[in-house]
Amino acid sequence: MKKFGLGCMRLPLVDKNDPTSVNHEIFCEMVDTFLEHGFTYFDTAYMYHKNASEIVVREGLVKRHPRESFLLADKLPLISVKAEGDPERLFNEQLEKTGAGYFDYYLLHNVNTNSLFRANKYGCFDFVKQKKEEGLIKHLGFSYHDSAELLDKILTDHPEFEFVQIQLNYLDYDSISVQSRKCYETIVKHGRRVWVMEPVKGGMLANPYEEVKELLKAHNPDASPSAWALRFAASHEAVDMVLSGMSSMEQLMENIALFENFVPLTEEEKAVLAKASEMINAKTAIPCTGCAYCVPHCPMNIPIPTYFSLYNAAAAYQRMPNQMAYYTNFKRTHGQASACIACGACTTDCPQHIDIPGFMKKVAEMFEN
Ligand code: SF4
Ligand code: SF4
Repeated sequence: MKKFGLGCMRLPLVDKNDPTSVNHEIFCEMVDTFLEHGFTYFDTAYMYHKNASEIVVREGLVKRHPRESFLLADKLPLISVKAEGDPERLFNEQLEKTGAGYFDYYLLHNVNTNSLFRANKYGCFDFVKQKKEEGLIKHLGFSYHDSAELLDKILTDHPEFEFVQIQLNYLDYDSISVQSRKCYETIVKHGRRVWVMEPVKGGMLANPYEEVKELLKAHNPDASPSAWALRFAASHEAVDMVLSGMSSMEQLMENIALFENFVPLTEEEKAVLAKASEMINAKTAIPCTGCAYCVPHCPMNIPIPTYFSLYNAAAAYQRMPNQMAYYTNFKRTHGQASACIACGACTTDCPQHIDIPGFMKKVAEMFEN
């Protein structure tokens, strides 16, 4: 298996305001090109593209290519496991939506302190083991967003998991909340393999601040910022899979070229990225990746990642009129930031551990006063 997978969470859209409107023609072209170049791993999940990703994968991949020609990963959405029988119901729904017959890789999605409680309460660990015994899952893993300490305990308690999918990128490597490096070292200690998500941090590292672009260009005029980020993730010895959520053929072709002729980072290049990380952290107000896990929880219909993105751009570039225009448009159809009642419902599943109600006050201060 090649080290690079096609993430199906940021696919090209027909209507950029409708996450379910994936462009079928472009996606098919991406799938075909990916397979033609010898790459085989596709990653989907229940909630991607507002629950449409699995169907998109069925139409663009499963129905159009022999089942043995690709590897499909899907995930049990722990966020939706709230009662006895939910794991079975969701799993059956996923088999039907994807039409895949079985999953080559199946993960518990977004394990953290909060979801771990639900996973234990509703028997998710025994459930996925059972499905593996039945041959409906080939390999078991989980995606993880919490401390290295808790990860150590989970891996001790659960030898059945072969791999862990973690957020690993040069910006989060030594972050106090994400703990990429510590999580990576914990997985290695337990002899398991590492899958990487968010290597480009939700696109943030594909288009960093101008001074960071200049720094990277000065060391390698031919490499794009996203190529630097992907090389950082894939240069780790225990990493077997790097997932990238690509939104265009151009991005796909660039990444294919990178992984077909992969060259690990040198020590000097690692030092350049450490400097880039320092520069970005000094300017980024809210470390939101735009995953949107928080959005379904909000009773006030606040588009949380959209507002955080506008806030970050306004704070970093002082482009207030531009950001203000977007904010004014969004609040016509959604809750405005000051509508936040600080209920905290959005915070429990935030992989970045962001104080969302706290930052929402700052968004309101910036755009409403
Ligand atoms: S704390 Fe605010 S943003 Fe979060 S769910 Fe409650 S109302 Fe929505
Ligand atoms: S606030 Fe957290 S959960 Fe919401 S989009 Fe940002 S990173 Fe994701």
